[in-house]
Amino acid sequence: MQKRKLVIIGSGPAGYTAAIYAGRANLEPLLYEGFYSGTAGGQLMTTTEVENYPGFPEGIEGPELMIRCRKQAERFGTEILTEDVLSVDLSKRPFKIVGSKTEVEAECVIVATGATAKRLDIEGTREGEFWQKGVTACAVCDGAAPIFRDRDLFVVGGGDSACEEAIFLTKYGSKVYLVHRRDELRASKIMADRAINHPKIEVIWDHVVSKVEGDDVVRFVTLKNVKSGEEHKRDAGGVFFAIGFNPNTDFLNGQLELEENRYLKVTPGSSTTSVEGVFAAGDVHDHVYRQAVSAAGSGCMAALDAERWLSAKGLAD
Ligand SMILES: Cc1cc2nc3c(=O)[nH]c(=O)nc-3n(C[C@H](O)[C@H](O)[C@H](O)COP(=O)(O)OP(=O)(O)OC[C@H]3O[C@@H](n4cnc5c(N)ncnc54)[C@H](O)[C@@H]3O)c2cc1C
Repeated sequence: MQKRKLVIIGSGPAGYTAAIYAGRANLEPLLYEGFYSGTAGGQLMTTTEVENYPGFPEGIEGPELMIRCRKQAERFGTEILTEDVLSVDLSKRPFKIVGSKTEVEAECVIVATGATAKRLDIEGTREGEFWQKGVTACAVCDGAAPIFRDRDLFVVGGGDSACEEAIFLTKYGSKVYLVHRRDELRASKIMADRAINHPKIEVIWDHVVSKVEGDDVVRFVTLKNVKSGEEHKRDAGGVFFAIGFNPNTDFLNGQLELEENRYLKVTPGSSTTSVEGVFAAGDVHDHVYRQAVSAAGSGCMAALDAERWLSAKGLAD
């Protein structure tokens, strides 16, 4: 079985940034970029223009940005495997990583497997329909796009994130409707009050979005009253799912401590997990910022933490 100083699991901005730093530190990292686990390259592979990543004043297509990050990681000696990590054994060192085709021993591991935005399977919202043509799962990322300006925007959800996203979108939309299937929000009272009392937000209680229609972009939503079953159609410029994320932590099988919401637990201000020699980067532990640039930043932190840990153990050379 081949043995590595450092294995990085995950291929979004966090994993590739960790690989760039670790490669430049001569750690010869091996990176599992995933296959069935999610699009290799991470969440940005599913979006169009990224306008808030520094260094690209004209914006850059998400997939193009990730291809560049991948190339930069390879340039500094990262070996990339296009396969999923199915399981890990973190009970003793060297750790064991079981991929779909390979098994590897690693002195040190960085987990950067990201998170998957939850979406509802509603007619009109799928890939090839209006997904990324007015339907999205990230208001902070996409809200400023011209297609949403001065239009009626619909946020689906009822938790803190949904309230926060609705408030954020009031900067762009003419009106923001928070569509919630119950008669009470799940959000904390302070967030719920802020949303409900906002002059540009209207909560549509006991309703779900049942259909999205348009031409090149979203033009209409159909709303269904879950109590009466009645449906009505409204003009719409965008639909934002704000129903949470699933951090990709299942393959760890409980070997690292998780937060209550199943995100990886790290020591605040570092990338250290509950197992010595295992570090975390990006959205797999960050349920607050969830941005490409913050994921990249935490990939840098994880690589530096890993390098220092390996050096302290005399394992870096
Ligand atoms: C539609 C959309 C648009 C967005 N737009 C923007 C934007 O404009 N600007 C911005 O800053 N942020 C944006 N974001 C958020 C941004 O994409 C994320 O914050 C960022 O990608 C997180 O990076 P990450 O490296 O932590 O994880 P991810 O990007 O989630 O990448 C992790 C990857 O690891 C791999 N993986 C998972 N499990 C395994 C496994 N078991 N084995 C091997 N590999 C595995 C998968 O390929 C997975 O995709 C957007 C998100 C979405 C969903």
